[in-house]
Amino acid sequence: MSERVLPYQHAPVIDLQLLILQKAGIQLFIKREDQNHPHISGNKWWKLKYNLEAAQQQGHHTLLTFGGAYSNHIYATAAAAHELGLTSIGIIRGEETLPLNGTLAFAKSRGMQLHYVSREAYRNKNSIEFIQSLHDRFGEFYLIPEGGTNALAIKGVAEFAQQLQQEIVFDYVCLPVGTGGTIAGLIAGMNEQTQVVGISVLKNGEFLVDEVNNLLKNFSDRVYGNWYIETSYHHGGYAKTNPQLLAFINTMKEQHQLPLDPVYTAKLLWGVFDMVEKGKFKPGSTVLAVHTGGLQGHGFR
Ligand SMILES: *Cc1c(COP(=O)(O)O)cnc(C)c1O
Repeated sequence: MSERVLPYQHAPVIDLQLLILQKAGIQLFIKREDQNHPHISGNKWWKLKYNLEAAQQQGHHTLLTFGGAYSNHIYATAAAAHELGLTSIGIIRGEETLPLNGTLAFAKSRGMQLHYVSREAYRNKNSIEFIQSLHDRFGEFYLIPEGGTNALAIKGVAEFAQQLQQEIVFDYVCLPVGTGGTIAGLIAGMNEQTQVVGISVLKNGEFLVDEVNNLLKNFSDRVYGNWYIETSYHHGGYAKTNPQLLAFINTMKEQHQLPLDPVYTAKLLWGVFDMVEKGKFKPGSTVLAVHTGGLQGHGFR
């Protein structure tokens, strides 16, 4: 039986014109990868690509994955399973709250079975005992880790990196970082002249450097020197916002027709502009920011 694949819509690159960019001599492009699929958007499409292929090749009919109540990965996995005729199970951190938020309501509407576990149990989600207990309860499934981050996810994102480099020439590529899977894929797929800059959306994101190095080591057994992570643009931590960030989202939408989500892409662009002002990009260079998606959960589209 041949595997089914998700449709992919080629996403545009837009050229952002702003005075601070002109002054600094920086050309800024945005890859609107959020537009690659209506529900499985941005980086999640690429992270799922080879996992979906593997699940089908191995004869699985069910995907099981993990996430918080606002997880874009839960949303994307539910949509992907539904589209490919697979069933899905979401192991959700914490207690059920009703009515379901937009993310979980959507996942449920796509047939995802939602299973809530305590924060303590969730912390042990990668243990053999916990996974065995999930098999006892749910039977066979293809397991996708939290955030979708594994070697097949990195393979998918590396392919995206290669596609990007054929489409456009740039000196820096910037993206938001959560688990580090996406930046690891971009590093693995980019040529080494390109600087890869991650913006941590987590507080105390310094640990992500080790995380990404481990992912890369497992993926290609190589060390790369052309990347780093900026850790001061988290605005208080994961999914935390403040009035300045929300005002920034509004400005970008109203004046530049660029919709951003408050968890990932607003912090990315905020960070990029701050770095431009601080002269962190070489004058005359071209910066590409990847819009990784995330709009669906927030009504920001
Ligand atoms: C999941 C997500 C990220 C983070 O990707 P990681 O691979 O976990 O670092 C970034 N942006 C958006 C919009 C996401 O949904």
